Amino acid sequence: MEPGFRSWVEVSRRRVAANYAAVRSAVGDQVEVACVVKADAYGHGAVEVSRTLAEAGARWFAVSTAEEGVELRRAGIEGRILVMADYARLSREALEEYGLTLVVHSLEDLRELDAFAANRDIRLPYHLKVDSGMGRLGTLASAAVIADTIQSAANLEFEGLMSHFASASDYASAQTALQSRAFEALCRELCARGFLPRFRHIASTNPVAYGRRDAWHNMVRPGLALYGYISPARGDAPSRILEVEPALAWKATVISAKDVPAGARIGYGGMYTATRPMRIAVVGAGYADGLSHRLSNRGQVVAAGKLVPILGAVSMDVTTIDVTECPSIVPGSSVTLLGAEGAVTIDAQQMARIAGTISYDILCGIRARVQRVHIA
Ligand SMILES: *Cc1c(COP(=O)(O)O)cnc(C)c1O
Repeated sequence: MEPGFRSWVEVSRRRVAANYAAVRSAVGDQVEVACVVKADAYGHGAVEVSRTLAEAGARWFAVSTAEEGVELRRAGIEGRILVMADYARLSREALEEYGLTLVVHSLEDLRELDAFAANRDIRLPYHLKVDSGMGRLGTLASAAVIADTIQSAANLEFEGLMSHFASASDYASAQTALQSRAFEALCRELCARGFLPRFRHIASTNPVAYGRRDAWHNMVRPGLALYGYISPARGDAPSRILEVEPALAWKATVISAKDVPAGARIGYGGMYTATRPMRIAVVGAGYADGLSHRLSNRGQVVAAGKLVPILGAVSMDVTTIDVTECPSIVPGSSVTLLGAEGAVTIDAQQMARIAGTISYDILCGIRARVQRVHIA
């Protein structure tokens, strides 16, 4: 049964729940799991995915912006929501009203948030992000200075200390071990000064999947694994302790199909020339749907259970494929851009390799005009 859109993704709730359960059992009961559902749950639909996760027992959700947190609250999500990458002065208004928890990236922001809370006569929890060596968000201040600032922020509750790895999947690099040690040292020094927050967290999907237990502390923040992917590790990685399966399939409807003679040029720039009489199909998804232009003449889709090539340029709204060997493909048929038909699969990692990007970019790149259909 096809839902009948020109292009749509099907997100399997069962798979999302199973991936969450796999993460949960990998880390055990002593470790809280903050489910990363930023960027519309990596294109999977944040509200539906969060509902599914909540039903599966998730208590913490992590988003990037306050707006994303507000969307979840308005949809009735009741768990804790951590806002990981917003500008404090833009997002603070929503914190109390929607019960969001802010990640604070600098001591200046911490002082400012404290003044804001004092002004409103409210008490706000926060997680402080430290830069353990990634060189992006997070304070570089010493433990002594951090402790003083936490101490003087009387209107705030220091609930979490967090950091983020730059090279978690690269076992040829020492960066993860160095960051891990720096984070542990800071936790110890703050603890020695009497500041041990309820949650300490630095690990996303990779340190969970490859069993880097010393990096789990008592909270982990997986995103990609919930959607069924684990980035391949570089270097001498230990074996994975986590198995997950892609939750999303991306499909498109054939708008038109026709026979073309040998020598026919296909699409913008005449990038492809038919080498023989061929049958081509034009499917209703293009780069404005998130199908990378870099798949032009290089990518493949699954049609009638076979891998077939993309012919010529991916256009804004449509893409041409070779269906010479697929007589069952007619206008109205659907093809699979990401996902499986029988034993034949294309996943976001394969597509990313061909397009010269990463699986995250492929998933988050599926545009809003592609219908999201959530199935059991
Ligand atoms: C996106 C993000 C995550 C999740 O990363 P995955 O690799 O998808 O598991 C965790 N923490 C922070 C701060 C993030 O920005």
